[in-house]
Amino acid sequence: MPAYDVAALRRDFPILGRTVHGRPLAYLDNAATSQKPTVVIEALTRYYSEHNANVHRGVHLLSEEATTAYEAARWSVARFLGLADGRGCVFVRGATEGINLVAECWGRVHLKAGDEILLTQMEHHANIVPWQVIAERTGAKVVVAPVTPRGEIDLVAFQGLLSPRTKLVAFAHVSNALGTVNPAAALTRLAKAVGATVLIDGCQAAAHFKVDIPALGCDFYAFSGHKTFGPTGIGVLWGRPELLDALPPYQFGGDMIRKVDFAGTTFREAPERFEAGTPDIAGVLGLAVALEYFMPRQPVAHAHEQALLAAATARLRAIPGLTIVGEAPEKVAVLSFNIAGGHSHDIGTLLDADGIAIRTGHHCCMPLMKHLGIPGTARASFAFYNTMEEVERLGASLEKIRRMMA
Ligand code: PMP
Repeated sequence: MPAYDVAALRRDFPILGRTVHGRPLAYLDNAATSQKPTVVIEALTRYYSEHNANVHRGVHLLSEEATTAYEAARWSVARFLGLADGRGCVFVRGATEGINLVAECWGRVHLKAGDEILLTQMEHHANIVPWQVIAERTGAKVVVAPVTPRGEIDLVAFQGLLSPRTKLVAFAHVSNALGTVNPAAALTRLAKAVGATVLIDGCQAAAHFKVDIPALGCDFYAFSGHKTFGPTGIGVLWGRPELLDALPPYQFGGDMIRKVDFAGTTFREAPERFEAGTPDIAGVLGLAVALEYFMPRQPVAHAHEQALLAAATARLRAIPGLTIVGEAPEKVAVLSFNIAGGHSHDIGTLLDADGIAIRTGHHCCMPLMKHLGIPGTARASFAFYNTMEEVERLGASLEKIRRMMA
């Protein structure tokens, strides 16, 4: 078997076999959501057809099976994040809910007038708006570190904005719009030096390289299952257990309580403290299967994706009138670009006619687009199941589109 048998790997993902507008699907929109291997799809069906029962409640066998699998999934997540145990791993709907949870629960307790929340210009709206809202409510101020023309966080400016007023620093591990891999451990160290709490939005990192939370040194880390080959509607917020235990919960109900009495209620510790009500059990099990599927493939996947990125970058650079947006030296396989004389939506529509799926527009990064002085980009984003042939199809189709637009 070859070192990296991408054809065999693709057979694990049934959707990759379909056609679009009569052409084989080239799915290059992985930063929006990734495709799911058969093992994940089957895990969802198996749960509902063989084990469906509520967790943490029943004394009967099915409930015990569901509970055991649900808690085993937390261990899979912990291993995936380089953690020794799952105590700090809270199941949420996705990165958006994870960040909102921290803004609401941590922000409400720890922020006051005069405090600063340091973000970066390249954040996704999900890592901007929750902080804006909690800042308005507490009197804290949002401060923004600029991004260089190459698409990197301006480290000198970042450092200059840190002060004893900085209570929270939140940044993307990887930019969804540009693919930039940020120096997350170094940014965390700088933030910690002024005593700030650090949240990393890991949405675009988790599907591309090993995430090692102890090495990053952050306090909170959020990612979405659907971008990591798992189901939609499930994700993880990791928080330092002692930090989570000290926070007020934000939703109340079954499973998160220790004792309820009309005279007063006491809450459980993390992670149950933040998992009120019946969780997305099937989603949790599907996510664990996705992570277990991906983990052994991760190192070779990364090398393959980097080869795709290098080839796609060279191919697109050779097209006259095409500008690549975001050229940081360290990137995941995300390629944003524009073509002179054309709107990104038109590029996306024309590529779709050739069976190539990409994303267009502002990528939920309106402040970044404003900063770069562009309305949006066309974005091709690769996963470990994409091929050199698809890179070539993208290049050939864009050459055709460029001639049409010229
Ligand atoms: N942060 C980043 C960097 C993202 O790319 C996304 C998804 N595009 C999110 C947060 C939000 O993720 P979700 O919609 O899955 O909650």
